[in-house]
Amino acid sequence: MPKLTYTTHLGMFDILPDESPKWRALENIIHEEAAKFNFEEIRTPILEQTELIKRGVGQLTDIVAKEIFAFTKGDSNYVLRPELTAPVVRSFVEHHLDQRGGSQKLYYIGPMFRAERPQKGRQRQFHQFGVEIIGSDDPVADVECIAFMMQIYRRIGIKNFDLKINSVGDPESREKYKSVLRDYLKPNFEELSELSQKRFEKNPMRILDSKEPEDQEFIKNAPVIRDYLNEDSSNHFELVCEYLNKLEIDFTIDPLLVRGMDYYTRTAFELTSPDLGSQDALAGGGRYDLLVEEIGGQPTPAVGFAAGMERLFIACEELDIALAPPKEVDVYIVTLGGAARTWGLTTLPKLREHGISATMDYLGRSMRAQMKDANRENANYTLIVGDNELEKGEFTLRNMKESEEDSFTLDGIIAKLA
Ligand code: AMP
Repeated sequence: MPKLTYTTHLGMFDILPDESPKWRALENIIHEEAAKFNFEEIRTPILEQTELIKRGVGQLTDIVAKEIFAFTKGDSNYVLRPELTAPVVRSFVEHHLDQRGGSQKLYYIGPMFRAERPQKGRQRQFHQFGVEIIGSDDPVADVECIAFMMQIYRRIGIKNFDLKINSVGDPESREKYKSVLRDYLKPNFEELSELSQKRFEKNPMRILDSKEPEDQEFIKNAPVIRDYLNEDSSNHFELVCEYLNKLEIDFTIDPLLVRGMDYYTRTAFELTSPDLGSQDALAGGGRYDLLVEEIGGQPTPAVGFAAGMERLFIACEELDIALAPPKEVDVYIVTLGGAARTWGLTTLPKLREHGISATMDYLGRSMRAQMKDANRENANYTLIVGDNELEKGEFTLRNMKESEEDSFTLDGIIAKLA
C-alpha cells in the first residue's frame, strides 16, 4: 500500500509554533487598542446560514457568486463565514443588542473562508480583525472607526500606506448616479469588457473598479459620484473629511473607490500599502446603513472595517518589523541522576509559582545534551543539579548569555529571578 500523506487544503495554512508568537502579539495589540477605544469584543460561529451571507454580502458580489464554501446537512444550509459584517449584524438583530443602549461599538478577530485562487496575500482561510459600530450615523463614528484601524498600523510601525476614501452615496444619490453612469457608458457598451457588460444593468458602479484593460479609458473619464450626492450625503462626506484632517490622518479622495459589497452606503474607504505587491489592500470598510434592516432588524445605521492579518504580517516582513521577541525560557533545570531529576520536576512548579518560566529535559538525556537543549530553547539560565548539590542545598545557576555561574539556595534563585 502506498504511504498516505496528508496536507492542508490549498490556500489554507497551519500557524506553526515559530509563528504563533507574532499572532499573539498582534492580537494583544488589537485587544489593548480596542480597550482604549472602548470597543467590545464579539465572537460569532464559524458557520452561518447560507441565506444570511447571500443576503448580507450581496448576490452580485464575487464572494457570494464564486467564493463561498457552503454545504447542506439535514435541512440546514451552512456556509463558512467569508466575512464578519453580516454575522455581527445578524447577532445584533438576533440578540436585540440595541437594547443595551447607545451605539454598539464591537470588534472581532478570527478566521474567514473564501474559495479564491490562492496567491501571495490571498488565501482560502485567512484572518481578519475589524470593527462594527452599529447605531450611529454620525461622521464621528466613521472617523473613530478609521482612527482605530490606523492606530493598529501606527503602533506596529507600518507608516507607509495610502488611505483612500470616497462616498458611495445613499440610495437616492446612487440611483441618480447609476443612471448618469449608464448614460455615459451606453454609447461604448460593445467595447466594454464582458464582465463590465454583465454589471452594466444591475451594478454599473462596480465597473469603476474593473481591472480589465479595455475598460480603463472609459473609467478614466467617467462622471464621479461626488457630483451627484444629495445634500445629506454630501454634508456627511464633508464632515468625515474635515474630522480626518483635524485628527491629522492623511487621505486621498478616490472617486473610483466603490468596494465589493452591495450594502455600503456613503463612506467607503480602503487602506493600501506599497510594501505588499499585487494584493496591496491592508484593510477596507465603510458605512452600511441599509444592512441591519436588510437582515430583519429596525433601520439602523452602521459603519465598520475589516483588515487582513496575513497582509499585515507580509508588510511587517517587508519592513523588517519583528512583532514578537524570539522565544526564551527563564530557567532550564539540568539534572544528573534520578534524585536530581525528581527534585527538578518538583521544583518547576515552585519557580513557575513566582512567575519564572521553567522547563527541563523530557527525554532522559546526558548533562551535555541537556546543556545543548537549554541553548536551543534559548534559556536565560540553567539550574544545574546533581547529588552533591542536593546534599548541600545549593545549586549552580548559570547565566547562559554571560557564561557566568554562581551557587545559590533555591530561595536565593527565586529571589534573584522573580
Ligand atoms: P474585504 O472583506 O474583502 O473587504 O477584505 C478586507 C481585508 O481582508 C482586505 O483588505 C485584505 O487585507 C483581507 N483579505 C481579503 N480577502 C483575503 C484573502 N483571500 N486572503 C488574505 N487576506 C484577505
